[in-house]
Amino acid sequence: RNGLAKMSPSIRRLLPIFDGIPVYMKTRINRLWKKWKEGAHEVMEKYEATMTNRKKLNVLVFIGFLANEQKLKLAKKSDHGGPLGELLQWSDLLASLSIIGHHLEVATDKDSLRSFRSFESNVKLYVYQFSCFQDTYVKRYTCFYWSVRHPGEDAAAKNKPKNVCSILWKYKERGPCQYVNGTRQQMDIIFTDIMGLNILRQYHRQFLFNNRCRIRLLDSFGTHAEFTTKTYFLQNKRKLSGPYSQRNPWGGHGLDLRQHWTFYPHSDDNTFLGFVVDTEGVDEKRQKTLYPSALVYGKEKYMWENAEKPIGVLKKFVKIHATVADLEDVNEKKTNKTSVFDDVKNHGFLNSQEISELLDTTTIFFGLGFPLEGPAPLEAMARGAVFINARFEKPKSRKNYKFLAEKPTLREWTSQNPYMEEIGEPHVITVDINNEKELEVAIKRAIELKPKPYVPFEFSPAGMLLRVALLLEKQEVCGKIARSKRWPPVNQMKIFKTINSGESCEKTCHSQKMKCESSYFSIINSPSLLQRQFGCSSTLSDASPFAPFNCTVQSSAHLFSCASRPPLDVVRVCPCRDYIPEQHAICKGCL
Ligand code: UDP
Repeated sequence: RNGLAKMSPSIRRLLPIFDGIPVYMKTRINRLWKKWKEGAHEVMEKYEATMTNRKKLNVLVFIGFLANEQKLKLAKKSDHGGPLGELLQWSDLLASLSIIGHHLEVATDKDSLRSFRSFESNVKLYVYQFSCFQDTYVKRYTCFYWSVRHPGEDAAAKNKPKNVCSILWKYKERGPCQYVNGTRQQMDIIFTDIMGLNILRQYHRQFLFNNRCRIRLLDSFGTHAEFTTKTYFLQNKRKLSGPYSQRNPWGGHGLDLRQHWTFYPHSDDNTFLGFVVDTEGVDEKRQKTLYPSALVYGKEKYMWENAEKPIGVLKKFVKIHATVADLEDVNEKKTNKTSVFDDVKNHGFLNSQEISELLDTTTIFFGLGFPLEGPAPLEAMARGAVFINARFEKPKSRKNYKFLAEKPTLREWTSQNPYMEEIGEPHVITVDINNEKELEVAIKRAIELKPKPYVPFEFSPAGMLLRVALLLEKQEVCGKIARSKRWPPVNQMKIFKTINSGESCEKTCHSQKMKCESSYFSIINSPSLLQRQFGCSSTLSDASPFAPFNCTVQSSAHLFSCASRPPLDVVRVCPCRDYIPEQHAICKGCL
């Protein structure tokens, strides 16, 4: 219908949407554009066959995170602290989608969403001509803008882009807009987040109903099977919760779990989207400062609460820097009270360029245990700093940690960043920061290590482009799929039984250096397979997140789960697949 998607690493394709996104996102896309171009080149060199012959898709991106801006002010806060991980991921997703050549529409508020909704109907297409100039150099281009014409309304004026040339180019609009008749095509994919999904559910019920399987939900921490259907959660909420809350406000969407796209590759039931690590200006030969220094990970004051002891230990060995945004004049303030910030050089909130330069000279990036799984430790590792990753003596989960109490996952965090825990030395040391002796050893070791800058392939532009292109081309969630068309292909499946009792399929597959592949569950969920595996003479069926297990098949497709840990007497059957090194989302035979 749309033809083929062609790799297009030109920032001009994104200019029309720059008007509607926060400055933080525009700046990030611009700053990393050189890296994106290099990544596009790299991925074409290494994976040309995979990257060509892809269908061009109509993709709607609805950033629900920004749609309540009046109330939440998240875009505004991005200039001085506030949660940045989400905006960073949305920026990288937009860059990826544009470079891999899909047609892109972006909505960041309820109003613009209203017009995108009419995609299935005939609407007018408006044609604008722009000329953008930089010094004396002028670029002209024509860009199609469209909007729904409501009776008696000048829709063209309403949707007119104001500053289409944006940061790189100065802008001059030319000529009046003309419009032509056109038919909008249907959306193929709709990226949104949980706030966006709630808006769709509230205001655009029918649209959501028609497009359910096209939704891809950005869901940082991921969602487990127990939380995706309301009924199962309500029946089991006591078992699934701890003392802080028995609610499930972020779950209950009833989507296929693969429609939940995560920040890190941490939940095999979900799909890994990820982001790109900023390596702009990284110089492999650059020396760290003569005297070791540490940058403490925590951009708001509250993140430093109860950190006196570990910070005290750190002070014995290194000069400490901080980027706390909500601390006023800490360096000038003279009071008699001692504070965790004494002798700490606080820079306040820094922009990307400044924080990158600071990380370039930093020896240790020091985690205090919160925030969980943010992007900053990967950025530090990319600039040759050692990440001290706070280990949790007792793993944290929704059952014992307030921050996680309402998250729709039973995942257990063994440290501030479990993904980096796996990477280990020389880049990461995971340690109980409240154990003074162990911490001292870790700090001394970190000063000695002097690692080279390192970014895992899946967090590089080439890695992200490859992953997003493949997932959009091959992962199918709508309708029944013929066995021969399944992706990952069925011949990549390896079946294992859980080895230790009470173990999840994730754990079983990981111990084989594989991932659990939830899309295979429907294939192995058969009485004949269980008869072969367990020698059962007959089988039962059960709606349980542990099924298929022993002589029991699964009766509810919503409950297939890689992550669920069964009671001790249950032996689960697990479908696993391999993965490309440093690219967890893609199996070796998936290209
Ligand atoms: N960051 C920044 N200026 C600062 C401190 C952090 O731009 O002074 C950036 C950091 O480089 C990272 C982003 O903020 O890209 C998000 O950081 P974090 O890991 O704290 O994640 P969050 O909790 O915001 O999702």
